[in-house]
Amino acid sequence: MSVVDIKQVSKHYGQTLALNTISMTIAEGEFFSLLGPSGGGKTTLLRSIAGFVEPDQGSIDIDGKSMLDVPINQRGLGMMFQNYALFPHMSIADNIAFGLSVRHQSKAQMRQRVDELLKLVHLEGFGERRPRELSGGQQQRVALARALAPRPRVLLLDEPLGALDKKLRDEMQIELKKIQREVGVTTILVTHDQQEALTLSDRLAIINGGKVEQIGTPREVYERPRSRFVASFLGDSNFFTGIVSAQVDGLTRISLADGQVIHSSHGASRRIGDQVTAAVRPEKLQVASDAASCTRGNCLSGHTAHEIYAGNSITYHLAMGGQQIILTTQNHAASTLTPGSEAHIEWAPADTLLLD
Ligand code: ADP
Repeated sequence: MSVVDIKQVSKHYGQTLALNTISMTIAEGEFFSLLGPSGGGKTTLLRSIAGFVEPDQGSIDIDGKSMLDVPINQRGLGMMFQNYALFPHMSIADNIAFGLSVRHQSKAQMRQRVDELLKLVHLEGFGERRPRELSGGQQQRVALARALAPRPRVLLLDEPLGALDKKLRDEMQIELKKIQREVGVTTILVTHDQQEALTLSDRLAIINGGKVEQIGTPREVYERPRSRFVASFLGDSNFFTGIVSAQVDGLTRISLADGQVIHSSHGASRRIGDQVTAAVRPEKLQVASDAASCTRGNCLSGHTAHEIYAGNSITYHLAMGGQQIILTTQNHAASTLTPGSEAHIEWAPADTLLLD
């Protein structure tokens, strides 16, 4: 059953259309992310759900009840926003209890709940400390405990790990997901970090220019991006434009600008003569020793322009098919590509994605 139901929500700031008829539903217990570039409308949508922003039109329901006239503090939400700092003069326990005290609970109930939350975020024994005596990661866990204290129906997270360095951020992602699973709270996360959205989410919405580009599981949006925007925003992609020249045995043949052809197993609805844009992920490409040795259904020849050595992987820039291609290989085999030399690559037709 859906917990959050957003229908046709639009919001202008003066001439800027920040949200353009956005619709989505978020299910019970789901970890749902709003992912997209800066200025896309993610924060405006999250703030509309929270009640800080009033949409011009559309509806936002939680558990089937319209939220539009419900005050912020009565929407049953827990929030962890970038600018929601801990209170420096209060102990950790008091910071966590802050969300409870306004709800008229007894002292004993509050203490018990605070202890439960300290345990949940692995900070038992830290209750009497002040925020400044905790590391950045520990402070984030306190903020999470505070957001969860009143047992919210929906947890809203706006770039909650944005201020942490990479290693700590990775650790906190795992921790956040574990805690969310344990509590089972329906969660909406705003992030511009693709890796974070892929790692954490059950499903995600890619938001750009105030519109939803695509909604799906991490696997669906990564493996089957519908638009060029999604294919390039979420990971890297090689794009080929060409003309459909045949439909043979379930494969769509596409002729490229330089006369070479590629095949896709996703183009049954395309007609001969249609112009198409295809996308192939760099990690799906393999180096072949020569054109005759290709066995995977697609083979292109050209030359290697650059090599980018990144320790565990090597990325090559190749010129072929009238385009620049990026190919990434793990650094476990002797490289067979040399800048300035001839290059051959191959991949499976299932990995040639056709975009709208
Ligand atoms: P994101 O969270 O994806 O970075 P935002 O929701 O913050 O995007 O912004 C969407 C658009 O709305 C942007 O063009 C931004 O400049 C504009 N915007 C956001 N908040 C305001 C505001 N309070 N006043 C005017 N324009 C705003």
